[in-house]
Amino acid sequence: MSTARLEGKVAIITGAASGIGEAATRLFVENGAFVVIADVQDELGDQVVASIGPERCSYKHCDVTDEKQVEEIVTYTLEKYGALDIVYSNAGIVGSVTSTLDLDLKAMEKTIDVNVCGCVAMMKHAGCAMVARNIHGSIICTVSAGATRGGLAPAGYTASKHALLGVVRSASRELGMYGIRVNCVSPFGVATPMACTIPGVKRFRLDPEFVEAQMSSVSNLKGMVLKPKDIAEAAMFLASDESACINGHNLVVDGGFPDSMDTFPVNKCKAVL
Ligand code: NAD
Repeated sequence: MSTARLEGKVAIITGAASGIGEAATRLFVENGAFVVIADVQDELGDQVVASIGPERCSYKHCDVTDEKQVEEIVTYTLEKYGALDIVYSNAGIVGSVTSTLDLDLKAMEKTIDVNVCGCVAMMKHAGCAMVARNIHGSIICTVSAGATRGGLAPAGYTASKHALLGVVRSASRELGMYGIRVNCVSPFGVATPMACTIPGVKRFRLDPEFVEAQMSSVSNLKGMVLKPKDIAEAAMFLASDESACINGHNLVVDGGFPDSMDTFPVNKCKAVL
């Protein structure tokens, strides 16, 4: 009997050309799944497919803010692999890194568009496909440790992740009646390209080891260094039949980061940039 935890399952993972989504793609494939990588970074997406092998994964350009492209990737997946069991809606952006006093509202709209509306569009079209085929699938979103507290990230990002957690909870109730589970994983800081750069600020490139050291130093769990694979493992649990009775759950993967501590110096952003 196979020990692969996702044997034969078909998954779409958004934001899988990089970071957590890429780690999830590798882990899901290692565990027997077929994965469609959905991202806007075409070159990186193709590289991930080339390094894994095209037998079990493929790349398709999909900007999650364009509902038509989201609908198309669901259709593409169904036509190519004949099913859709798992959607890991992981694509996200930090957006404008400023304090609330300097907030660019247009930039905040873009953050909400990607981080919230993009996930809603995936839920809508994947959900419709699953309901129509009576697939008891699993939908997972990457939310954030910043979704239940303030001060960990800029206001626009924090708002988007608070909203996304609400969407997950709401959709879990609605789709649960069709046997479809909707859950999320909430990472604390992981040294992916997102956590090591500030969009539009080329000179702002943090060393991943520095970011990991900073994150580990505020963790309660001594010796813990969060890696993309740790988040992917949590997503895989929620994708697999091992979590068959878990719905509407927010699985926080933060190494015991204390609720009382805020690390993001939003009010010092101007000085940093
Ligand atoms: P990352 O930048 O490495 O990966 C994000 C991916 O999303 C990129 O490949 C990017 O091209 C893609 N993407 C961005 N906009 C898109 C769009 N409109 N359509 C399709 N794809 C798009 O960063 P990551 O850390 O791996 O981020 C993955 C998720 O984890 C995000 O939702 C992020 O908010 C969340 N998260 C990350 C951290 C962290 O510390 N890294 C902490 C909490 C939550």
